[in-house]
Amino acid sequence: MPRADPEARRQYAAAYRNREGVKERKRENARALRRKRAAERAKQTGKTLGKNGYCLIPIEKRFWEKVNKDGPIPSHRPELGPCWLWMACRTPSGYGQLGLPGKDAGIVIASRFSWELHNGPIPDGLFACHKCDNPPCVNPAHLFLGDHEDNARDAAAKGRIFRDGLAVRWNYFRNKKECPRGHPYTTESTYTNPTTGKRDCLICKRIAKKKWDQAHVEHRRQYRNAAYHRNKAKKTQQPVS
Ligand SMILES: [Zn+2]
Ligand SMILES: [Zn+2]
Repeated sequence: MPRADPEARRQYAAAYRNREGVKERKRENARALRRKRAAERAKQTGKTLGKNGYCLIPIEKRFWEKVNKDGPIPSHRPELGPCWLWMACRTPSGYGQLGLPGKDAGIVIASRFSWELHNGPIPDGLFACHKCDNPPCVNPAHLFLGDHEDNARDAAAKGRIFRDGLAVRWNYFRNKKECPRGHPYTTESTYTNPTTGKRDCLICKRIAKKKWDQAHVEHRRQYRNAAYHRNKAKKTQQPVS
């Protein structure tokens, strides 16, 4: 080996570092170290060890971390006791959501999971329905199993479904005294569409406008700029004779 040639020396050193098996052995050592550290961490924190050496919190533990047992007592069934409220992620209709362990494992409805945790698996096609009529509740004593028809009948009995067609629905909305955010429908704060009779809350509209303006400052600036130049061009234009 020509010692004097620095380029050759560098090449020789690189080849020595990359020789067969060394990189692979280094990777294996790193993996073993990671597994060892993860095991120590798991021992300290009481977590279980996943397949790839990562710490996993058992799903039951994660479930209980998100439950608040001091929920409201249902007013129509006080003998049931307090609801257990789901304090984590919820669907738009209020049902709790719990992520399942593992990649692409998906999520499960928390009340369903609660039933399965306490009473065993739910057969296909059945729902965990709420006696307390409170979607985020996961108290197993407030749940019962029913099929789709039970669920719909239950909802209808509790007045959550309009069964009498459009007239009833129309009356329901016409008799409302306040907007969905709770602003009263007075003559000053309401716009009534003369054709359809639909009412709009002006307070809500003002809030929405303000929010939009704040979110689109740059857009508004550009719009103003464009309008300015447009008007300027119009003024300097020579009238066509
Ligand atoms: Zn409940
Ligand atoms: Zn409003």
